[in-house]
Amino acid sequence: MDSDALVSCGAMMLGFVADYWRSLEARPVVPNVKPGYLRQLLPTEAPEQPEPFQSIVDDLESTIMVGVTHWHSPRFHAYFPTAASYPAICADILSGGIACIGFSWIASPACTELEGIVMDWLAKAMDLPEFFLSTGNGGGIIQGTASEATIVALLAARSRIFTEKKAEDSTLTLGRLLDQLVVYCSDQAHSSVDKGALIVGCQIRKISSGPDCVMRGEQLEAAIAEDRKKGLIPFFIVATLGTTATCAFDDLMSVGRVCEKEHIWMHIDAAYAGNAFICPEYRHLLNGIEYAESFNFNPHKWMLVNFDCSAMYLKDRKHFIDAFNVDPLYLQHEYQSSAPDYRHWQIPLGRRFRSLKLWFVFRSFGLDGLRKYIRKHIQLAEYFISLISKDARFEIIFPAPQLGLVCFRLKDGSNELNKSLFDALNNDKRIYLVSANVKEKYILRFAVCSSLTEEKHIESSWNVIDEVATKLLSS
Ligand code: PLP
Repeated sequence: MDSDALVSCGAMMLGFVADYWRSLEARPVVPNVKPGYLRQLLPTEAPEQPEPFQSIVDDLESTIMVGVTHWHSPRFHAYFPTAASYPAICADILSGGIACIGFSWIASPACTELEGIVMDWLAKAMDLPEFFLSTGNGGGIIQGTASEATIVALLAARSRIFTEKKAEDSTLTLGRLLDQLVVYCSDQAHSSVDKGALIVGCQIRKISSGPDCVMRGEQLEAAIAEDRKKGLIPFFIVATLGTTATCAFDDLMSVGRVCEKEHIWMHIDAAYAGNAFICPEYRHLLNGIEYAESFNFNPHKWMLVNFDCSAMYLKDRKHFIDAFNVDPLYLQHEYQSSAPDYRHWQIPLGRRFRSLKLWFVFRSFGLDGLRKYIRKHIQLAEYFISLISKDARFEIIFPAPQLGLVCFRLKDGSNELNKSLFDALNNDKRIYLVSANVKEKYILRFAVCSSLTEEKHIESSWNVIDEVATKLLSS
């Protein structure tokens, strides 16, 4: 490592990033490029000789930045947010600088220990049940994504049910069991649950949510009874808190009670909405978490921690260690019975020092600052509602706002007309939204995403929607 070069190039890079953030508001939120644009701009072979760092930086605007979708533009309202802040960026620099791989305690003790500590801080900030703390049988781990967390939970649940069934029938094979295993989730759950079931190799059954997009225990119980009659084995359910399309919350209490009665593993996917639970006024949405075996949300979505940082809590880490424990001699160490080795709680072996990001963010903003950040986004979503509600052409769909998300459509418009509005907005390119199909209705989603967003941006985005709708309706 050339430390002098690191200092000068690092300063150049930080300057570039700082300028980028200063310029975000002025940049078009979606780039004006077509697939393959970059191949036309870059050489077909890697350079044989080293190039000065400055010339790489000089090329950034004309090659990379012209093809970036600006997720932190205050006019970005698509998907759910992805978080970014200067402390998290600095922590990532440190993680890159230390460049350790903390798969076991001995592989980098600070990496493992800081993760346990900040995950406990986070659990306490959300008032999670004590069994999720590292002081009991459970604990928290940082996974890369919510999708990964669902797969890890699924694999642990599969391992648990296999052990139990094998105790009843010693001839049972996993292949035979897989034919009978059923995963459940709401018809509103994220596609990562389908993918998880595909990867793990078991069938999935979607439970019909109510008109409010909420999954309830009653429908789940009926489906389980039907499946048991067919000789199937229900073993895993994903309850979603904050569905992707409308940010609906499954009824954890009733779903949880069914899971307890039926001995089914409940995993909670609160990818976006989970962040709001650090605010006491939203904590009630988590009531019923006592029934969960695993819980996950993404601080990288809404807690000012840059991607990737997906916080996963396990009630009993034994199920994960049983599922993932391979223990070759080269990975063993003298402290492995007295310290957690996160390699047994995840799919890959290698892992980055991601807890630095959480630590830096907690210390730089404090819980108070993080709560203020979340509340501000929710207030901005409420402000958007106050603007759109004055216009009789539009209707808000589903109780709103659902945290920082507002779902809306043209009131008396067909799905086709609403799709035309969406297409016109995206062709206009001044703001960026995505749409969804919910309960046979085509809806537009407006999410408050950027840390730069202020009321004036909400007004300006609303003005774009108003203008584009007026043009569309008069044509
Ligand atoms: N679950 C829900 C409810 C989501 O909204 C999303 C993405 O927005 C995901 C899971 C997938 O998240 P990740 O990209 O972390 O896998």
